[in-house]
Amino acid sequence: MRRIDLRTVQAANLHTIRDINRQIVLNYVREREPISRATIARETALQRSTISEIVEALTGEGLVEEIGEGKSTGGRRPTLLRLRSIGPIAIGVNITPTYTTIATSDLAGVALQRESFQTDPIPERTLERIIEVIRRFSDLGSIEGVGVSIPGLVNPATGGVIFVPYFKWRDLPIAETISKATGLPVTIDNDANAVALAELWFGRPDIRDARDFIFVLVADGVGTGIIFDGQVYRGVRGAAGEFGHMIVGSDAPVPCSCGNDDCWEAFASERAATARYQTLSGTSSAPDFETLIDRALAGEQKARSALTETARYLAIGISNLVVGLSPEAVIVGGAITRAWSLIEQSLTEKIERSVRRGLPSARILPSTLNGDPTLMGALSLVLTSKFSGTAMG
Ligand SMILES: [Zn+2]
Repeated sequence: MRRIDLRTVQAANLHTIRDINRQIVLNYVREREPISRATIARETALQRSTISEIVEALTGEGLVEEIGEGKSTGGRRPTLLRLRSIGPIAIGVNITPTYTTIATSDLAGVALQRESFQTDPIPERTLERIIEVIRRFSDLGSIEGVGVSIPGLVNPATGGVIFVPYFKWRDLPIAETISKATGLPVTIDNDANAVALAELWFGRPDIRDARDFIFVLVADGVGTGIIFDGQVYRGVRGAAGEFGHMIVGSDAPVPCSCGNDDCWEAFASERAATARYQTLSGTSSAPDFETLIDRALAGEQKARSALTETARYLAIGISNLVVGLSPEAVIVGGAITRAWSLIEQSLTEKIERSVRRGLPSARILPSTLNGDPTLMGALSLVLTSKFSGTAMG
């Protein structure tokens, strides 16, 4: 899935020219809507007639629609184009250690229907429920594919799950099972990779132009998705980005999902934060992470300390990533972004200090993906194939 760089691609040769020009026009409409044919022509090297031809094809496929006239810049008032956003086109399945959420969305990534249930540690039961909901959601026949995000290792080529540490799920043909049962194409990926893809395509405008960034997903674990040259970097067998298991200390507040007590995730995850809070407040059970954030935002000192200490470890890991990979930006996603005002200082201080003198520092930013970022990740696995012109597999 390659994201075309609109700044450098102007045209291409021979048989790919049509596809690439089509992607350029479709992505101009997606990122800049409402936009006129004339503006697209002015900003690309494409002929006006080529653009009209492509727009006609995209309209015919139901991807783009006309929405009346814009302001005149002298001559005739231009007709504006936008993505056609009527009706569900994709289904996203977001499997987390606690809940599984299934939602439909339109082409622009706006969630339409949504249903959640508790993830059953027995994979067959969880799969059965997923299939039942997908069948109901795809009843109208407009769904083109299913994207699945899971907190574990996936083989992107086969769609098989290699390992999900929370449930000790191993070697499960999840994509194949869902596809056989529903008749829909299924794409599956690790949650951090999927959410990085979502940030690349649907995230903040300043990140859409970045070619190299790292998404750090803070949840029950800590996952990282690496975007390298506008694509998800997966490494051999999809195992890249497992920075959650790099060693950053010893005697972490919670065991890592892999069983060790020295991994980054054991220091910087939501679980680590709630365990710190429990120790500080001397209670018998820890609140959930959302409650911890609420208390910190309300000014409770122990809740704030637990979050700041977690952010300090988050910063240690991010510093290592910045030193090693020199990305343009690091995006932090997850519920923790709600407390950004409380953690920003601990994050940036440490990172500024560890960046080598004279080298450009990476920007550390909270994700702006709306709603549930990992659900958006699951949906992106389907939606981006529309915009990147790659057939789903
Ligand atoms: Zn680990």
